This record gives sequence, C-alpha cells and structure tokens, in this order.
Amino acid sequence: MNTYPLGKSVQHDFPFFELNPGITYLDSTATSLKPSVVIEAITDYYSRYSVNIHRGVYALSVEATEKFEAVRKAVLNFLQAPNEIEAIFTKGTTESINLLAVSLERVKKELAPFFSNWQSGLEKDDVILISESEHHSNLVPWQMLAERTGAKVVYIPVRADGSLQTEFISQNEFSHHKLKIVALSATSNVSGVVHDLTPFRELARKNGAIFMIDAAQAICHAETSWAEFSADFIAFSAHKMLGPTGLGILAGNRDVLSVMPPFHGGGDMIALVKKEGTTYNHPPHRFEAGTPPIAEAIGFGAALQYLNKIGMKNVEQWEHDLTAYALAQLEENGWHNYGPSSDDVISGRVRKAGAISFGIEGVHPHDIGTILDETGVAIRAGHHCCQLLMQSWGVPATARASLYIYNDRDDIDRLIDGLRMVKKIFKK
Ligand code: PMP
Repeated sequence: MNTYPLGKSVQHDFPFFELNPGITYLDSTATSLKPSVVIEAITDYYSRYSVNIHRGVYALSVEATEKFEAVRKAVLNFLQAPNEIEAIFTKGTTESINLLAVSLERVKKELAPFFSNWQSGLEKDDVILISESEHHSNLVPWQMLAERTGAKVVYIPVRADGSLQTEFISQNEFSHHKLKIVALSATSNVSGVVHDLTPFRELARKNGAIFMIDAAQAICHAETSWAEFSADFIAFSAHKMLGPTGLGILAGNRDVLSVMPPFHGGGDMIALVKKEGTTYNHPPHRFEAGTPPIAEAIGFGAALQYLNKIGMKNVEQWEHDLTAYALAQLEENGWHNYGPSSDDVISGRVRKAGAISFGIEGVHPHDIGTILDETGVAIRAGHHCCQLLMQSWGVPATARASLYIYNDRDDIDRLIDGLRMVKKIFKK
C-alpha cells in the first residue's frame, strides 16, 4: 500500500493537466511532465537573478553560483553517492555517454592504475560490450568510438521478454583480456525490464574493464543508490524525472575523472592557458566547457526536492501496481505484451518499471497511436530509439504506454477503452 497518495492527488501540481483537460498522458518515458515548483524555480532565476556563474564577484552572481553548485550536491545526495564521486552537468544522457566515449578515445595509459585491462588506450580488436536492448544513445557513440579506434562492439542478446541473456557470458568466445568497456542500461525504455546487471558487472570487474550504466530509465522510477549501481560511471537525464530538458549528469569517481582528457574545450574547463598549450581544470569543471545550463540545473534542484518529498520507494510501488493492472488487462484482451507477463511482475520474478510495449495483431502501432490520440490518449509508437531490440523481436515497431507518478487506474482504463475502439475499427 502506498503511504503517499499519487495519481490524481498530485495532478494539481502539474499545470499541464489544467491546460490540457481530457488528455491522458502515457508518454513519460519520452519525457515527464513538469511540476509548478520546477517552472517557478526557472522563472525565478530568469526574472530575479539571471546572471552568469563562477566568474562574477557581485552578490547576484554568487547567489546563482551557490544555487547551481547546491544542485550538484543534491544530485549526489539523491544518488547516495560517497564523497569520492563527482557529478558533471551535461545536456543529457546522450551527451554524457558521448563525453565518456570521446574522453576514453583520448586516454593513453592513464587509466591503468584503476582498470587493469587499460594498460593502453583503445586498440584494434578491443571489446566494447553492450546489449541489443540499448537505446541508440548507449549504442551509436560506442559504434563511433569503435570505428575511430578499431575496437569492436559485442552485443549481448535479449530474451523474448526483453531481459538480457546472462548465459551469453559463458557461451561467448570474445577474448576477455581485450574487454575494455561494458556499457549497459539498467532499465529498458521499451520493455521496462530492470536488468540483472550483476553477471556483467562481475565480468567487467574480473577483467579490469570499465563498467558504465545508462540510468536514464532507472533513476526516475525507483530508489537507486551508488552502491547498488556499483558502476564506474552512470549517465541520466533531468527531463525524465520532472526536471527541465537540456540537462543531464555523468557521475564517476573523482580520481578516475582527474586523469581523463576533456571533451569540449572553452571557458571554465581550463587551469592555465598559454600560447604553447593549456592545462585543464579539475573535474567536474574540466568537462563543463562554456556557460552551463544554469536555469535547467536550478529547475532540476526543485524537481529533486519534489521527488525526495514523495520518496522514490513510493514512486516505484505506485508504478508497480499500475503496471501490473495494465498488463493484466492487455493480456485479458489477448493483445501482445512485449515485456514480462503480469504474473512475472506481480510475483516479483522480474522487476519492471512502467514502460509497457504492446501490439494488436494485424494493426500497425502507428495506427494504434493515431486512433488513441483521437480519444485523448497520448502514447508513443515506433522503434523507441531501439532498432536492435525491434530487429531481435522481429517487429518494425511497438506501441508503448509509459507511466509516472501522476497516472492512475483511470488512465489505464481509458487506454484499454481506446484499444477496444482500435480493435473495432480494424475488426480484429
Ligand atoms: N537511454 C535511455 C534508456 C533512454 O530512455 C533515453 C531517452 N529516451 C536515453 C538514453 C537518451 O536520453 P536523452 O535523450 O535525454 O539524452
């Protein structure tokens, strides 16, 4: 039972609902809605102290700098990160992973003290291990890195329910001494599966490889901690957890980041600039060239406060109950559920966040999306930036309904009514 009432009880915190009466929003995996406290924090910055940070000596600049840096601390608190962890502000998960990939391309042997397989930088036939379930953000940057260095990307296959084939490790032939990077999402944006990363983390640790987690769909849906992730780097976006667009985080160990080359060059990331060359600032500033997303960070601070007040355990429980309710109805109607079954979710055999991929036989997902839109239900249809997963499942696209704290059973009922209408129109 939830101790904090969500669904309709929090809808009044989100101006979206008043401005869009009658809309059932089931696309929070793409981006979440924003509560007034976030919008107000951004408006307050832009209207009252809209000045640049770090370099100013006047009071307003000091205030802006303090507010910005306080959010960095709030992020680390939210992650329950120990002291040695640093949070870098980026534009989002995508930029966080690109930052990491570009910096790792520039590494020579500076990482050897931390990762035994990194006695040199990336070389021909080195292995970057990802999975078929990855969002293109955690896939294309690694393919591009492989193209530039001669390394190869190896893909962990997925099972029918979207979970990762853990047996792949014992069956696969790639040479473990060439394994340099393991980069996996903790929670799928398509199936909602919370992956069992333990065997892959152990594989990385055993071989002195880097272990990175794309936490874009993990951190917004459940209580997570640095210890639980137990990763070298994690990446996520603010906009999926009630915060603004254009802001993300890459978090990692300060000592490791201290030996890593920068991503972009420019203001703020330098220590000393001379004609002969430049020395770089300490992390996180080394990786934050130019004026950062100040308003976005301040807005994100308000989002974290809001989520902390609710408690991430309550968020997870609320979504779990709603997900189980939705899956049971999809199955009852004989529609295809691409992720774990309602039984698996209810029994706890598989952990799943509220991203539900489904289909109706003989009806294209885009038609499902369009008809639902006419009934006021907003879902997403397509490959969800996961073309490898679609190829593995042998489908071009799925329909996806995704849930967050402001949804409730009425929204699911409206979705199911809409699907009945689709069925009627297509006589399926
Ligand atoms: N990874 C996952 C699992 C995602 O769901 C998303 C966004 N859908 C991303 C990465 C990319 O996030 P962003 O577009 O905010 O950079």
